[in-house]
Amino acid sequence: MHAPAIDAAAPGGRRVAVVGGGPAGLFAAERLRRAGCEVHLFEAKGSVGRKFLIAGKGGLNLTHSDPPGLFASRYRERSAEVGRWLEAFDAEALRAWARELGVPTFVGSSGRVFPDDLKAAPLLRGWVRRLRAEGVQMHVHHRWTGWAADGALCFDGPDGAVSLDADASVLALGGGSWPQLGSDGAWQDVLAGAGVALAPLQPANCGFDVGWSAHFAARHAGAPLKPVVAHWREADGSAHALQGECVVSSHGIEGSLVYAISAVLRDAIARDGHALLELDLAPGREHARLLRELSRPRGKRSLSEHLRRAAGLDGARAGLLREVLGPDAMQDPAAVASAAKRLPLRLLAPRPMVEAISSAGGVRFDAVDAGLMLRARPGTFVAGEMLDWEAPTGGYLLTACFASGAVAAAGVLDWLSRRGAGGDDDRPPMRHAWAFPRKDEADA
Ligand SMILES: Cc1cc2nc3c(=O)[nH]c(=O)nc-3n(C[C@H](O)[C@H](O)[C@H](O)COP(=O)(O)OP(=O)(O)OC[C@H]3O[C@@H](n4cnc5c(N)ncnc54)[C@H](O)[C@@H]3O)c2cc1C
Repeated sequence: MHAPAIDAAAPGGRRVAVVGGGPAGLFAAERLRRAGCEVHLFEAKGSVGRKFLIAGKGGLNLTHSDPPGLFASRYRERSAEVGRWLEAFDAEALRAWARELGVPTFVGSSGRVFPDDLKAAPLLRGWVRRLRAEGVQMHVHHRWTGWAADGALCFDGPDGAVSLDADASVLALGGGSWPQLGSDGAWQDVLAGAGVALAPLQPANCGFDVGWSAHFAARHAGAPLKPVVAHWREADGSAHALQGECVVSSHGIEGSLVYAISAVLRDAIARDGHALLELDLAPGREHARLLRELSRPRGKRSLSEHLRRAAGLDGARAGLLREVLGPDAMQDPAAVASAAKRLPLRLLAPRPMVEAISSAGGVRFDAVDAGLMLRARPGTFVAGEMLDWEAPTGGYLLTACFASGAVAAAGVLDWLSRRGAGGDDDRPPMRHAWAFPRKDEADA
């Protein structure tokens, strides 16, 4: 027996389902609607864009002002593929899009781009209002569960199971971080079952466990370290350094500097069982000067006072030195000076994906064509974080989500036009919904 079909007659037009109401899905829906499709957007939660809203909590970092080549390089192994998406829709296009919605943006001192008011909520509100006004039909509280035997999309809705027979669909179901916001990665089983090649989801832009002593964690968890310089080696052995800010957590270390290099650290742990991260706790002081100042007799001053006065090392910085060096080496100015410039931290594990800002892994690029259509499921396209790419924070995540939404929408239109033109391609016959009578016709 069929689940009841959603009443969605589409006289003359093409009906497209977009599943997932994050930025990737909303943007694909906008493009498809403006191209004249009848668009149904399905969202499992009671409202769309929950992760987008959370992203606005600390100031919505929409995109970045990097020049195009550098921008694309942020996607590391996927810079070629994501670079092609950015040719369709780049940072400038995203800023123009926001402006058109009445949300001007500015470039911060770090090069990051934010809405003038730093907030996500007004942008999302205006966007959803406009999408509805333009005719995108929103179905919240509808969780996609897979496909019926005839290819229809199946949903668990508020009144039970429903299905939709669409001409094409875009899945934009997000990655696996912060699952309470809706993107829980449950789609992996459905797509794997449909023969879609997946790379396992993994935490990205995440913190790491160090295994602090209980004493250190109790005293210093939550303490910011700014500025510090991180030193690390890439898999090819090349040495790199980056200045920024991080935070001591009860388990280890987190914050924007760590997130920026989390892919390398995570992969090193997977390969070697641990990763080495070295921190310069005194970026403003040369090693020789530090050694000279630490070697001065401290008289009656306590060691803590000496570290603070002679080298500006206090609070969590001094605590880190003690934690890593131990009490004996702390008496040796040479050991302290060296550790202050290159404090070795042995990272044991990435923090769980549920805590991460984003996830790596997902639908592999060899599972989709250039228009982001699933090779195993013609007529079904994918967009956003559920694809196998990752990027540091800095606005690169949202930009790629929008850009992939644009590419998937263009892919849908191209595919529909080729099918509509009488099948001028030589793909094998498909078993997709629109090759079958629509539910309402079939039931009539
Ligand atoms: C705390 C935090 C801060 C962030 N800050 C920034 C930032 O400043 N800049 C930046 O670039 N990025 C930031 N990000 C990352 C960014 O928000 C995500 O990369 C982006 O939202 C991913 O977009 P998406 O459309 O692919 O997926 P999502 O936004 O995750 O949306 C996917 C949607 O699909 C829905 N869904 C999932 N499964 C189903 C199903 N079976 N049926 C129906 N619907 C389903 C989900 O409920 C969800 O609404 C941040 C993330 C977090 C967690």
